[in-house]
Amino acid sequence: MLDVKLIQSLPQIPPPALTAYLDTNPAHPRNQGLPPNYLSWLKSQAKVLEEGVSGKERKSFREQVQRVKEYLEQNPPRAHSVVIFAGPQVWQFLALRVAVEDELYWGLPSLTQLLWLMDEHRPCGLVLVDRFGARFLRYWMGEMAEEHDETVKVDTTEWRRKDLMPPSQPDVEKLRGSHRDAFEHRVEAQYVRFYAREAEHIREWAERKSLNPVFLAGPAELVELVWAELPKSMYGRTVLIKEDLGHLALPALHARIEPELKRWEREYQRALVDRLLDSGPHAVLGVEETLGHLQQGLLRGVAVVRGLEERVGRCTKCGWTDRGADSVCAACGGERRLTTIRAVLPELVRRYKVPLEVVADEAGGMLRQAGGIGAWLKSSSTLQSPDGPRPS
Ligand SMILES: [Zn+2]
Repeated sequence: MLDVKLIQSLPQIPPPALTAYLDTNPAHPRNQGLPPNYLSWLKSQAKVLEEGVSGKERKSFREQVQRVKEYLEQNPPRAHSVVIFAGPQVWQFLALRVAVEDELYWGLPSLTQLLWLMDEHRPCGLVLVDRFGARFLRYWMGEMAEEHDETVKVDTTEWRRKDLMPPSQPDVEKLRGSHRDAFEHRVEAQYVRFYAREAEHIREWAERKSLNPVFLAGPAELVELVWAELPKSMYGRTVLIKEDLGHLALPALHARIEPELKRWEREYQRALVDRLLDSGPHAVLGVEETLGHLQQGLLRGVAVVRGLEERVGRCTKCGWTDRGADSVCAACGGERRLTTIRAVLPELVRRYKVPLEVVADEAGGMLRQAGGIGAWLKSSSTLQSPDGPRPS
C-alpha cells in the first residue's frame, strides 16, 4: 500500500528532477501495442518539454528521460499507473492501482496530481467478524491489505476449562444437563464480551487510521452485536454487510467491497453537498470566496468538484492566490503569475490544514452549478462540519 510517509518526503527531492505520471494500465488497448502508448507519449512529451529546459540542464534532463524509459522497457508495469521521480541523486517509483493522467514535468517535483488522488480516494476499513475472531483490513487507492497486527482471535480454551472437570457426582444425569446449559450461557456471555471489546477496538482503529467508511461484515447476529456496542459517533461511518466474507481471498473481497464503497461514496457526497448548499451564512461558495476565506484561516472544510478548471493568479513572493488579473500582488508587491485552481488547491488546503472533499457524479453536478467549490466557515459552533454525522 502507498506509503504516506514516503509521499510526505517527496517535496524534499532536490530540483531539478523529472516527474512522470503515466497511465500504464495493461488492460488498456492503447498500451497493448509495441511500444505501449505510455512509452511513445513519454518520448514525444519529453521533446516538447525539452524546448523549455535551459541549456545547462539539458544533458541531465535527457539522462533522466532515458533512465525512466529504460526502466519501463525492462520492467513493464502491471499497475494501472506509475509515478516516477527521477533526478541525479533520486529515484522514486510508485505503482498505483488507480488511473492517472499522463503528465511530465522538469524542475521541482510535481506532487499536484498525487495529492488530488489522495484527496479523492478516502482510506476505508473493513472488519470481518466470525465465531473465530475479527480481522482488520485497510482499503485505499484501489489496494486492499490485511492489518495482521490488529487481528484478534477468539480464545475459548479459558472459557471451556471449567467444563472439562467431571461433575462431582457423576451419577446425576440431570445435573450434567443443567451444567451444560450453564456452560453454554457462560460461552455466550464470553462471546458478547469479546465483540463488545472489538467494537471499541474498531472505533479506536478507525480514529487512529482516519478510516471512513468502515465496513463491518459477518454473520447477521454477530455484526448486529458489534453494531449495538459501537459508540453512536461511529454509526455515520459504519456500513453493515450481513454476510460472512471471511472465506474470500483478497481479490474477491476487493471486488465485493468496491460496489459497496461506490454506493456509500455517492450517498456521502450527495449529503455533503446538500449540507453545504443548505448552510446559508455558515458557508461560502465559489472560487473567489473560498480562496479568500481559506487564506485568512476562516475555513474548516472545503468541497470541490473533481477536475474543476479555473484560472487564478498567484503571487510568486507571498503565495496569495485569487481570481484577480493584476500582475502585481496587492499584499506584498510581488509578481503574480497565472495558474489554475487544480495546481494550487491541494497545497493551499494543506498549508491551512483544512480537509478537502473531492466530489463527482451527481453531487459534483450540483456543486458545479453553485460555483464548483465551497467551504464551511469556522466561526459558528452550531454548524455541522464535513466531519459531522454522516448519512447511514
Ligand atoms: Zn504577494
